[in-house]
Amino acid sequence: MTTAEHIAANVEKVRLQISAACERSGRNPDDVTLVAVSKKHSPASIQAAWTAGVQHFGENRVEEAEAKIPVANALIDQPVTWHMIGHIQSRKARYIPHLFQMVHSVDSLKLAQKLSNYAQAIAINLPVLIQMNIAGEAQKSGLWAKDWQVDATVYQQLVDTISQINQLPSLMVQGLMTMAPIVSIPEQARPVFTSLATLRLRLEQSLEFSLPHLSMGMTDDYPVAVEEGATLVRIGRAIFGSRV
Ligand SMILES: *Cc1c(COP(=O)(O)O)cnc(C)c1O
Repeated sequence: MTTAEHIAANVEKVRLQISAACERSGRNPDDVTLVAVSKKHSPASIQAAWTAGVQHFGENRVEEAEAKIPVANALIDQPVTWHMIGHIQSRKARYIPHLFQMVHSVDSLKLAQKLSNYAQAIAINLPVLIQMNIAGEAQKSGLWAKDWQVDATVYQQLVDTISQINQLPSLMVQGLMTMAPIVSIPEQARPVFTSLATLRLRLEQSLEFSLPHLSMGMTDDYPVAVEEGATLVRIGRAIFGSRV
């Protein structure tokens, strides 16, 4: 098989897994968007995934995205939706609204303010998700959400921060994102996904606006994430193979 054929077969497998997870949990597969994470992979591989029906791609580094997105867009020559899924340093925020149609990794009010300013400067409204550090891992980005169900201070801080982000003029807060801890079996990630889904419902009540998206699930755990309500899954290796 050629690389393009491999990628097409992988996309097919992932779609079947998503459908199976939807079947098990009584969900509609149309409510789950596959975001193919193309970091460290070439525009040609991106084009192969696009030919196999993928319309959403994720990148996690600004420099890499700046070099690659224009090339991939030119190759494909059709509308593609680009998702920024990695941590953004404040000084790189200026590049984001030109390159991406959705940001999954808003993890501070300060970053949100910058993104809003730069989006406003080019007259767009940028859809964003708020990244949550559900498991409270020191090395992970995201608003601190460990023990939000029992720690009223943690919960109130989340409400306050998201409410302020939502008031920024050029950002549209559309949901939550998380990365589950690395575990040996996918089932062990389930409590984190359940917690994010529950947090979404609680926040919708507190904030009085809707948070339609839950971005959760990667190669090792996406079937579980879909069962728990993911609307966006971010899948790299299962589509493009390993990254060198
Ligand atoms: C790399 C990455 C993914 C995809 O990871 P895979 O294990 O290759 O599926 C998803 N989300 C984020 C934030 C990533 O950085």
